[in-house]
Amino acid sequence: MRAPLVVAVDRLAELRGVSVTDEVVEIGAAVTLSEIAARLDGAVPLLDLLLPQFASVLIRNGATLGGNLGTGSPIGDTAPGLLALGASLVLVSSDGEREVALADYFTGYRRSVRTAGELIRAVRIPQPQPGLVGFTKIAKRRFDDISSVAVAFGLDVVDGVVAAARIGLGGVAATPIRALATEQALVGRPWPDVAAAADVLGGEGTPLDDHRASAAYRAAMLRQSLLKFAAENEVPA
Ligand SMILES: Cc1cc2nc3c(=O)[nH]c(=O)nc-3n(C[C@H](O)[C@H](O)[C@H](O)COP(=O)(O)OP(=O)(O)OC[C@H]3O[C@@H](n4cnc5c(N)ncnc54)[C@H](O)[C@@H]3O)c2cc1C
Repeated sequence: MRAPLVVAVDRLAELRGVSVTDEVVEIGAAVTLSEIAARLDGAVPLLDLLLPQFASVLIRNGATLGGNLGTGSPIGDTAPGLLALGASLVLVSSDGEREVALADYFTGYRRSVRTAGELIRAVRIPQPQPGLVGFTKIAKRRFDDISSVAVAFGLDVVDGVVAAARIGLGGVAATPIRALATEQALVGRPWPDVAAAADVLGGEGTPLDDHRASAAYRAAMLRQSLLKFAAENEVPA
């Protein structure tokens, strides 16, 4: 059987724009991860930490944000990063466009609010971005492997106190999630005094035992990721 019409979405010009303004960074859903790194040229520091840890150059030369988010996988690497940046998705169909916060996009295991006729057109990252960002990926192999756990941090530290925090998690629930309880435990606390918040982070989500990692290991890695992030950024830039 041959389909009468096939559209290669990765070639649609409407899905391949990249723009940076004072208000928003917009990345087309069909721009490859390698192109994103080159075309943004440092405009999104968290992606500069995340993208080199995504698979390998070979995969990044083909993989797109539309595909990584479109699969709805709970262990896709870009979702935690984009959650920490407060990103939203522009969904397009023949009825027009709508913008959905990524935090509201996933509704269950490989399910989302996207309807059958909709494509992800672009990802929008609001400006200004968090002043302190980090990304930790735990996988069995250093490169070319899917995460057991991924954690992305987006914090603002003002006068030694955490003023705002967004943390995105992958691999610890049926969908990528925000670590809301940990964010609450961090805000208002002196930086880098994160011991109590790290304990909260270790209890976020509902990690599973599977062939990649045990639930206990995943929880331990969550906790450790915040301790590591704080130790590496004792004096925020
Ligand atoms: C060796 C290897 C290593 C990998 N390592 C990683 C890794 O480290 N981290 C990670 O997260 N993933 C990894 N992956 C998984 C995969 O590469 C990624 O999920 C990739 O982002 C898929 O992107 P794609 O553009 O190729 O999507 P495709 O495979 O083309 O599409 C995936 C799904 O998304 C849909 N889709 C595509 N574009 C859109 C759009 N614009 N709107 C709506 N739906 C859309 C498609 O219809 C399809 O259902 C790896 C895969 C391999 C083979």
